[in-house]
Amino acid sequence: MGLATWTVLAMSKAGKFFLLVVTLLCALACGWRLALATVAPARAGSPAAVVAPMLAAVAPEEPGSAMAAPQVSPTSANPPPASPQAVSPPVPPPSQAAAARAAKLERTEKPVTADRPARREYAAVRMLVTAYCPCRKCCGESADGVTASGRPVTANDSRFVAADAKVLSFGRLVSVPGYHGGQKAPVLDRGGLIKGKRLDVFFPTHAQAQRWGARWLDVKVYRD
Ligand SMILES: [Zn+2]
Repeated sequence: MGLATWTVLAMSKAGKFFLLVVTLLCALACGWRLALATVAPARAGSPAAVVAPMLAAVAPEEPGSAMAAPQVSPTSANPPPASPQAVSPPVPPPSQAAAARAAKLERTEKPVTADRPARREYAAVRMLVTAYCPCRKCCGESADGVTASGRPVTANDSRFVAADAKVLSFGRLVSVPGYHGGQKAPVLDRGGLIKGKRLDVFFPTHAQAQRWGARWLDVKVYRD
């Protein structure tokens, strides 16, 4: 009989303790929210401070309570750092943020398109411009009436120029002041001396070429 009574008593005692712990934990959870809502000053009297001594006082003889008490106190002693007030700094609604981004983009893009000058269709390059004709004096052994591009010297009404392959490719258009009325003329030929910023303008006769001589001119080199 004594054993049974003791077991029932122990069971009921353990059950009571279990209920108490559960109740306290619930109170703890709810209490923390309240405590956080009313901010820190309530910390000294917070459920954690109250609960731990209670637990210690209620069940000093229970072997389980010795385990339970330390389990409760560390969690309650370190309150969760994130309080509702601290977590949410003022953030503009997404629609406002998107609008602001769009406005910013518009501001950054507008000047680029509006202020950028239209791309010039040519570059002015100062070049030494000499002249030649299809004669042997001018062209030596290659005086065959065919330019280095394969086009005959009669191409484009015999108005074309020779240039350095590293500077201007065949077909590139240039405008040389005083040559062909400053109209565009294609690069159709090469020359042994025509390297770098040098041009040779073509004339049908040697006299015309001689008359031209050599001139430093601002040549318009058109883009491809
Ligand atoms: Zn010549």
